[in-house]
Amino acid sequence: MTEDKSTRVIVPELVTVRELADLIEVSPIAVIKQLMANGVIANINQQIDYETAAIVAEEMGREVEPQASEEELEDKSSVALPEWRKIIEEEDETDLEQRPPVVAILGHVDHGKTSLLDVIRRANVVEAEAGGITQHIGAYQIDWEGRPITFLDTPGHEAFTAMRARGAQSTDIVVLVVAADDGVMPQTKEAIAHAQAAGVPIVVALNKIDVTGANPERVKQQLSDSGLTTDEWDGDTMVVPVSAKDSTGIDDLLQAILLISEDIAINANPNADGTGMVIESKIDKNRGVIATLLVQNGTLRKGDIVVVGGAWGRMRAMFSHSGDSIDEAIPSCPVEVMGLDVAPRAGDTFKTVETVRQARTSASETHKSQKTIGQISPMVDLESIFAEFESGKTQELNLVVKVDVQGSLEPIVNSLEQLGTEGLKVRLLHTELGNINENDVLLAIASRAIVIGFNVTPDTSAQNLARTKGVSIREYQVIYRLVEDVEKALQGLLEPEEQEVVVGEAEVREVFKISKIGQIAGCYMRSGEFRRKALARVVRGDKVIHDGSISSLKHEKDDVNQVRKGFECGIGLKGFQDFEIGDALQCYVLEEVR
Ligand code: GDP
Repeated sequence: MTEDKSTRVIVPELVTVRELADLIEVSPIAVIKQLMANGVIANINQQIDYETAAIVAEEMGREVEPQASEEELEDKSSVALPEWRKIIEEEDETDLEQRPPVVAILGHVDHGKTSLLDVIRRANVVEAEAGGITQHIGAYQIDWEGRPITFLDTPGHEAFTAMRARGAQSTDIVVLVVAADDGVMPQTKEAIAHAQAAGVPIVVALNKIDVTGANPERVKQQLSDSGLTTDEWDGDTMVVPVSAKDSTGIDDLLQAILLISEDIAINANPNADGTGMVIESKIDKNRGVIATLLVQNGTLRKGDIVVVGGAWGRMRAMFSHSGDSIDEAIPSCPVEVMGLDVAPRAGDTFKTVETVRQARTSASETHKSQKTIGQISPMVDLESIFAEFESGKTQELNLVVKVDVQGSLEPIVNSLEQLGTEGLKVRLLHTELGNINENDVLLAIASRAIVIGFNVTPDTSAQNLARTKGVSIREYQVIYRLVEDVEKALQGLLEPEEQEVVVGEAEVREVFKISKIGQIAGCYMRSGEFRRKALARVVRGDKVIHDGSISSLKHEKDDVNQVRKGFECGIGLKGFQDFEIGDALQCYVLEEVR
């Protein structure tokens, strides 16, 4: 690196701040600061002339010379585009204008997400006069030195990914909060995976730097190990030290957000019809249905007729996040609206239509299509992904991999990374230690990924979500089998797998001894149902102590085929006698994963 830096850098006649920063291998912020020291105020995409660039570069220890190969520079400055930007790219460029970035705050629990949202809000939002009550409507917009930024008010990647899973990506930039005294934790890693899977750039807020024992350098190293190398170390990630408690570093954080937002060109057409996303909704007993909408394109006006999912209505009143009545909301503006007939679902897309008739028809059509989507939600299993590959719809097999111990994680990741055929590549969205949880499944839904568990199991909520959304969770105990399966999947050769589906759970409340037959568990059905022909597991504490078939199922004195939730029953298991009061008996069936 040092040798490289001694060579001359070729700089064109006109160069943007970012291009210059890339060329002289420093962060854009450093260039902006150096320009400021010379009395030049420039943003990251602003062009400066060769003379200015040369002075700045030389002051930063680099020698430059004019002329450049333009192709080279274009290559350097091109940034990978997230999916949502491609859509905007298809719009007529002349209609597009810059809109404020929409920012979500993610990070590990207790690292200060809520505190940071509060401190940013308090410092930069003029609250409504009515008693100064802070309303939380799901999002707010600040005005920082004349430049607006929208913050989504529900921190955490659960909300972020739940929206994505519904096809509603609204976040332009993620602020990852990491406590300087605690460092990168499991949910920090999850948050990174979720943001990266969504293709959303990350700025790190290194919070709690006021705490004794805060160790920013250690955290920077951990971040670097997780793929986010600070720009101080020649990486791409801005890591901004802040303290939500002392309100320090907040301006730097906002500046960093704006730098990124300039870099990725966040645009919309304000002159189109208002369209966007529902952030939250509720029914107020005095005011009726209240929904918070985030305008993503166009302008939403009071009096507009809006359709959202199966709901529709004329916008009778609109309020800003401060509770002020407003007449219009432009792109990136969160707005609380009254007038919808029923409460829409968070994540639903709203659009404006011309007539009430159109609104009614569209609402009822959406209603129908939502039902259809609900009934045949797209499967995310290996076979259907391969079908998509064959039809040219995808070139990647996305995987979420959960493993029991570090020692297994590395060989698994290494082997999986080496797989891949001509066109179909393996992309590891998230690899982590621990059981498969709901977040893993949400990430899989949002990114059309398969969840792979090695010596770990999905918890109940993960199982339920995976089942209702048709997400494939594949469990393995042998590494080579896991790798072989993924390899087969890449070639479309995988056999359908059977998965266990729990259909009910009973609690053992008494144990009877019946001569010749043995011990029978007197049970109360806690959930679902027990089926005579299904299989059953005995769970004591958090351990499975027996797994096998059912020998008898009785309700009162009768043999029955099934017993439902809320009823009592007697259960006998083949090859198992040692029931104890308090055991849970799980009834499950095997279903083909398809
Ligand atoms: P969240 O779970 O990420 O939303 O975290 P919170 O915002 O609820 O903060 C968790 C705890 O950390 C609270 O007790 C906060 O008062 C405290 N906290 C948040 N930010 C800071 C900070 O910058 N410095 C210190 N010392 N404490 C903080």
